[in-house]
Amino acid sequence: MSGERILVIEDEARIAQFVERGLIYEGYRVNVARDGQTGLVIARDNPPDLVILDWMLPGLDGLEVCKRLRAASDVPILMLTAKDDVKDRVTGLDAGADDYLVKPFSVDELMARVRALFRRSAPTSRPEILRFGDLTLDTGTHRAFRGDRAIDLTAKEYELLELFMRNPRQVLTRDVIFDRVWGYDFGGESNIIEVYVRYLRQKTEGESETRLVHTVRGVGYVLREE
Ligand code: CA
Repeated sequence: MSGERILVIEDEARIAQFVERGLIYEGYRVNVARDGQTGLVIARDNPPDLVILDWMLPGLDGLEVCKRLRAASDVPILMLTAKDDVKDRVTGLDAGADDYLVKPFSVDELMARVRALFRRSAPTSRPEILRFGDLTLDTGTHRAFRGDRAIDLTAKEYELLELFMRNPRQVLTRDVIFDRVWGYDFGGESNIIEVYVRYLRQKTEGESETRLVHTVRGVGYVLREE
């Protein structure tokens, strides 16, 4: 899911920077606008895949920006607001916002909302065949193959393998895996990643094939050649 472009419209430098850093860390490309007018120009000239929009902006306020963005496209819009009352939320939703985040928020919370919005707008994404060595993964059917051998995956195994295959040769920390595969609200046992990596290894190397998912002790895991 990474590589999508996100436009952040936020006048407070501190928050804009915090949001920008978090998004870049997750692999998104980011444009920042400090006011609504600039944001609308960027959105028009270089349409983003998602907009994070502050409510209280100098000049054009977030609500007006939201209406104008919505008039021009279906881009998912996440509004940031310090106003946490129901009436304001309804007003924002009427203006075309898809979701809300009330300040102050954590970076995990922000990423979870962003991912959720991308998931909701996902039907437009085309199935792909991801390849790594002799391992292939069909994102349409959710089936994997090691060479010609078909591998059936459970939903979580699929998500984990997809994460690895979209980030080959990159060490994925336990935190990142947790966050991407289980979501920010997961409160279960902490060895769940180990358990699923074990399942995945049994399925992808069960026929004495070479190891693909390697442990990086104390850090996480990486999909790489031997
Ligand atoms: Ca503001």
